[in-house]
Amino acid sequence: VSRIVAIVGRPNVGKSRLFNRLAQKRISVVHDQPGVTRDVVHAEVKDGAFTLLDTGGLGLTGSDTPALITKASEQQVHFAITTASVILFVVDAREGVTALDDRIAGMLRRSKKTVMLIANKADSGKEKIAEIEEFYRLGFGEPFYISAEHGNGEAEVRNALLEKL
Ligand code: GDP
Ligand code: MG
Repeated sequence: VSRIVAIVGRPNVGKSRLFNRLAQKRISVVHDQPGVTRDVVHAEVKDGAFTLLDTGGLGLTGSDTPALITKASEQQVHFAITTASVILFVVDAREGVTALDDRIAGMLRRSKKTVMLIANKADSGKEKIAEIEEFYRLGFGEPFYISAEHGNGEAEVRNALLEKL
């Protein structure tokens, strides 16, 4: 049975970009508009070593989002958290921890699943990154700093992930 790895996080942090990188396919829709991935998207990775799930829609509370879609999206995320053995929790390295990140972190801590904290959008190593204490405070240890856009840190995440499966 293939292990399940789920990518979770608030809209627009780069979950789908990371999904496409790890899956080495362009399956998931990457979009400037937050919350575009409304269904769970999945791919077999490493010849079936694990199944990767992309999720979207967590925290979609905009006035233009129909309640049914918000509800369905949140259920997709709950499903992902419930079925996954490892969760990649993606945050934005530059924006730091938001209230919604805190809320998601709470859900993840309660799930007792293995969580890897991924601080994305660390593109050049020269941009202003949030204080590491902010990320530590979430309770998942030191973040992996990556750029899903450029590929920095991808190998480290991939290797650490394979060890945790
Ligand atoms: P999702 O909503 O979490 O799935 O986020 P997406 O993968 O759709 O990405 C949201 C936006 O962030 C898009 O405009 C991406 O091009 C951009 N993005 C994703 N990863 C990175 C990154 O590593 N660096 C930068 N600068 N932008 C990124
Ligand atoms: Mg997405």
